[in-house]
Amino acid sequence: DLFAGHRFVVLGLGRNGTPAARALAAMGADVQAWDDGEAARAALLTEAGEVSGSLTVAPVESLAGVDALVMSPGIPHVLPVAHPVAVMAREAGVAILSDADLLFQAVRKAGSKARFAGITGTNGKSTTTALLAHLLRCGGVEVSEGGNLGPASLSLPLLPDDGVYVLEMSSYMLERLSALRFDVACLLNLTPDHLDRHGDMVGYAAAKTRIFDRMGADDLAVIGNGDSWCREIAASVTARGVPVQTVSGVDEAADFHLMSGAVVDREGIVARPGAALPGAHNAENACAALAMALKLGVARGVLADGIGSFGGLAHRQKLVAELDGVAFVDDSKATNADATSRALGCYGRIVWIAGGIAKAGGIADLVPYFLRITEAFLIGRDAPELAETLAAHGVRHSIVGDLEHAVPEAYRAARAQGAEVVLLSPACASFDQFSGFEARGLRFAALTEELLRDAARNG
Ligand code: ADP
Repeated sequence: DLFAGHRFVVLGLGRNGTPAARALAAMGADVQAWDDGEAARAALLTEAGEVSGSLTVAPVESLAGVDALVMSPGIPHVLPVAHPVAVMAREAGVAILSDADLLFQAVRKAGSKARFAGITGTNGKSTTTALLAHLLRCGGVEVSEGGNLGPASLSLPLLPDDGVYVLEMSSYMLERLSALRFDVACLLNLTPDHLDRHGDMVGYAAAKTRIFDRMGADDLAVIGNGDSWCREIAASVTARGVPVQTVSGVDEAADFHLMSGAVVDREGIVARPGAALPGAHNAENACAALAMALKLGVARGVLADGIGSFGGLAHRQKLVAELDGVAFVDDSKATNADATSRALGCYGRIVWIAGGIAKAGGIADLVPYFLRITEAFLIGRDAPELAETLAAHGVRHSIVGDLEHAVPEAYRAARAQGAEVVLLSPACASFDQFSGFEARGLRFAALTEELLRDAARNG
């Protein structure tokens, strides 16, 4: 009963709030939970019977006697768009915490000295989080990873003193982080994204920088040096007395960088990223994970082997099958042109499957990669818009509507044209045809599987 006698209000019953409410009640706290959406409330209630502690679902009218307010990352707490309950908390002097803060407090209350690694950035968070967790496991460390990537922080188990939590932190989660002190933390990169919520780059950068709050001289900050925002933040973190290691997939001036296919630091080669980590962007992620793993005590020899057994994350340039020398790569997570450019940059002769709901600017930024595309097959709502850009640059393409048509056509084209890869990297959101990028990627893999079966049957 780590939180016996404590009172929490949990606002927002989504991916983080629901497990938070349940976990806090299970740890003995008195929890009041609320969500403005009826379906979310109902979902919690149907499961609440299994909760051991005290959990009530009621609208928040007062915060008197409450220890802390736990709000979903999705609910804004900073004016001018702050939720009324956040304003109430500010006026009542009630702390607003993130679920990661409460995980940290629970672990310390339980007497565990388990360490915390945090990872943020505009791109590469999930890959770096999964890779670091993998490397630590290779080193025999007990690891629990989650946060933004899921599972939610408060769903993670209690770890012993030598365990390590690896948490992916979104800027929304970091915005209200106020207790957790990371032993190692990483900011990969900062490019314009989510500016609707944070107002401008200054606000967005300030939120991301909070990952380094409360860190000290024994800790390690790992920071990408690919953009001016990160370089400025690295300087200010160094000035605060926190050691910084810079990482880069391209710049040899960084403390960890790529040289002839290997990640090197001052002492020499650390590890060679394999096929699951293609491209300079993944080299940056690998550098970051290796720098953190070294700081957390994993031996260099273990890292050199461990990186080769990393399988990669689903839907991020994931090799799902190979048929007749054609690789089928699922990069469904690439929902904008920037992410797609990373994948297009990795191959020489590409049959490209793209489309869905286009982002502002469409695929105009991808023109420099068009020479690598032998043919494109377009799906989804904004296929005509994409087709226009391709036509303007003389790229062979056709609008096929859906993946069911795109995958077999793409395979036929790849064989006829000697392309090395059929790449699903849509540069578009998926919601016109799928529940999300995962469902889109799974469909691609299933259709690829059908091709394999047909090929096997036909000898
Ligand atoms: P996040 O969790 O930050 O969204 P992921 O690891 O899921 O990042 O990668 C999402 C996509 O972003 C990848 O498919 C890739 O195209 C791109 N990406 C990955 N790492 C980087 C990086 N370090 N810099 C730029 N883009 C990256």
